[in-house]
This record gives sequence, structure tokens and C-alpha cells, in this order.
Amino acid sequence: MDIKNNILETIGHTPLIRLNKLTKDLPCTVLAKVEYFNPGNSIKDRMALKMVEVAELEGKLKPGGTIIECTSGNTGMGLALAAVVKGYKCIFTTTDKQSKEKIDILKALGAEVIVCPTNVEPEDPRSYYSIARRLAHEIPNSFHANQYDNLANRLAHYETTGPEIWEQTDGKVTHLVVATGTGGTVTGTAIFLKEKNPGIQVWAMDPFGSLLTKYFRTGQIDMNEVHPYITEGIGEDFVPQNYDMRVVDVFEQVTDKDAALMARRIAREEGLFCGYSAGTAVQGLMQLKNRLKKDDLVVVILHDHGSRYVGKVYNDQWMMERGFLDVKTFKDIIAGRG
Ligand code: PMP
Repeated sequence: MDIKNNILETIGHTPLIRLNKLTKDLPCTVLAKVEYFNPGNSIKDRMALKMVEVAELEGKLKPGGTIIECTSGNTGMGLALAAVVKGYKCIFTTTDKQSKEKIDILKALGAEVIVCPTNVEPEDPRSYYSIARRLAHEIPNSFHANQYDNLANRLAHYETTGPEIWEQTDGKVTHLVVATGTGGTVTGTAIFLKEKNPGIQVWAMDPFGSLLTKYFRTGQIDMNEVHPYITEGIGEDFVPQNYDMRVVDVFEQVTDKDAALMARRIAREEGLFCGYSAGTAVQGLMQLKNRLKKDDLVVVILHDHGSRYVGKVYNDQWMMERGFLDVKTFKDIIAGRG
């Protein structure tokens, strides 16, 4: 018999799928690590489970406890799954920038979700970081997962994502391309892969409006770099402890528009119905294509599923309102010429 004891046993072992049409102008093979095959439809299931397991081991999470986290949705989804199976409560703080679909999904799994303003400093008492910290302080028997600074995050990718990519490519991977937020995915996966082969190039993809790229290049935290952007789940206005910038070779920035258009192309040209940050990762790769050679084997991580973005990136009107699709086309559609 081939039976899983619970949903958590289906986390990981996601497929590596060749990109065909999109990358036909590139000299090398590009493979997508399609993380929406995880049960919560994102890569974050891996680190959510790991954070819970480590907290249990360390005695920070006890039976009947409450998991508290600031999350843009995907980490919350993974934590909520773990909480259902293991019998914990969840309270999540998130920002008003996040898609309604993501918030509703968390509620469907029994989590309580508190929506906080996006455009306030992390230290502001109204920020989703501050509110999570305050709740963790006030609620007895609670555990603040803190995906930014909890190193169980990158450990999950060191233990699972990295080894899977190494095995699936027979150790032939030459480039890892990852859109980054907390830094857990890029750092954990890269540490593992570089231990196996220090020559592997690691390219981190960042939205404009995040300070990470400038920090990588100069070591300076420059708040002038920080401005509102639309892409969800990536970029930061501080440097989380999960980063180890030494394992990253290149940081590249991608616009909200280019990322959104690329996500739509990945869906329509490859049949991979992925999320917004997948567009950032593949677009960033395209921006750096002149650096690639014939025998390179590129692995690009697609973090989550497109269903969470049907009201956004995959909605023509939403795209047109932001100037991401040609408005003339919109008028044509209204006039029946579309
Ligand atoms: N893409 C999406 C959709 C995400 O939710 C996240 C997690 N914040 C990332 C990319 C970045 O992953 P990480 O936090 O591991 O850097």
C-alpha cells in the first residue's frame, strides 16, 4: 500500500519541468522547480513545517498552543496545514496589499487573520511585524514563528529543496534562479548546492522598491531605495537574518509590470499556472540571458500557484488599470473591437 499518514507527508518532492517555448532564444536548458505542487500550493509549506517541528523540539510550541506569524499568505497556508494536523491554533497578521484570495484561503483552514496597513515602517506599532510581536507577547502559550529571522526557514531549503534539485539534475545544475523575500529559499538552497559544487551560480531576483539589491551590492541599508511596489511575497525593507549574501552571486531587479507580463506568459506558453513572483524570477533570468552559455543547466524556482492571483495578474482590467496592458486594447474591448 502507498498511503500518506497525513497531508504534511505530501510536502516536497516537487517536479522539475523543462521550459520550452518561453526560453527558446536562450542558449541553454532551463528547468522550473514547480513548487505549487506542494499541498498548500507554495514552496513555503516546506519551511512552515520545519519551523513548527523545530519549535516543538525546542519546547517553544506546546500542545494546544497558538502559532502567530506575519505572513503574506503562503507561509500562513503552510503553518495552517501543520496546525490543523498537529492541533494548534493560528493567528496571522498580513498587509492590505495581499490578495483577498490568500486571506480567504487562510480563513478556510481555520486561521484568524488580522489585516494591517502596508505603507508603514516595520517598527511602527501598526505594522504587521509589530502587531504579531505584540500578540505573541500577550497570548499565553503562543509561538511567534518569525519566518524572517527564524533560521529553521533556510534549514528547510538546505534539507529539502537543495538536495531535490541536486538529485533531479544528477548534479549537473549550473545556475539557481530565485525570487527572494525572507531569503530562506535562496540561502538554504544555495548553501546546499554550493557545498556540492562551489561553481554553481546563484542569481537572486528582487522587485524595484526593495532595498535588498543595493544592500547586496554596497552593504548599505539605503531607505531611499524603498518605495511601494505591487509584486507579492518578495523584496524587503530590511535585511532578514535568513540571508547569507555570501552565497548569492548576482542580485537583479525586475519591475512589477515585467514580472506580471512574464507570469502570464509562463501560464500561456508553458501551461504552468504560477504566481506573480515566478514572473519576477523568469523575467530576471531573461534580463541576464547574455551571461548564459550552451551547456548551462538553469533551475528557476516557481514559488506558488496562479489561483491566488486571478483577481490581479490574471485579470485584464487589473492589469490595464496599472498600465501593465495597453489601455487602447481595453477601450477596443469596451467598444466591441477587442
Ligand atoms: N514568492 C512568493 C509568492 C512568496 O510567498 C515568497 C515568500 N515570502 C517568496 C517568493 C520568497 O521566498 P523566501 O521568503 O524564501 O525568500
